[in-house]
Amino acid sequence: MRQPIVHCPQCDHPVTWNKTSLFRPFCSERCKLIDLGQWAKESYRIPDTDEKPQEEK
Ligand SMILES: [Zn+2]
Repeated sequence: MRQPIVHCPQCDHPVTWNKTSLFRPFCSERCKLIDLGQWAKESYRIPDTDEKPQEEK
């Protein structure tokens, strides 16, 4: 029975897609965390604004 192989999005390491690959599609927890960190950075890209709250009346 063949198991599909995917490549880790982070380091391109081949990962067997089965129950033992806990961090699929990543090869390891480390690669998974790196990827999540990059997503977080993207979402934190907020333009500079004044700290004054906008008042709406
Ligand atoms: Zn990896």
